[in-house]
Amino acid sequence: MRTSVTRAFSFEAAHQLPWHQGKCQRLHGHSYRLEVTVAGPIGPNGIVVDFSDVRRVVQREVIDRFDHRYLNDLLDNPTAELVAAEIWKSLEAAELAVSHIRLWETADSWVELQAD
Ligand SMILES: [Zn+2]
Repeated sequence: MRTSVTRAFSFEAAHQLPWHQGKCQRLHGHSYRLEVTVAGPIGPNGIVVDFSDVRRVVQREVIDRFDHRYLNDLLDNPTAELVAAEIWKSLEAAELAVSHIRLWETADSWVELQAD
């Protein structure tokens, strides 16, 4: 049996995609929703990971860095896919054992990354 624990977050950010042939070429913003999942065995305390540990790491590594920012200042081409990849790298570097992340750019569009 594999148990996973997920916590959801949100942040607001602006970006533009200069290569895009449509409206994403123009400066605009999104209310991103981020879901971070950690999977693994249930430990002796009856938990996989403490929700508050997940919150603390994501707050520091992602929200403090991305919220109310112009994402093009942080990434050359801030597509949802590449923002999600950057989030994944940051969480991995912070030693959070992420198994899955979902980044929602709009209410009906999201990108999903998962560990191999
Ligand atoms: Zn956009």
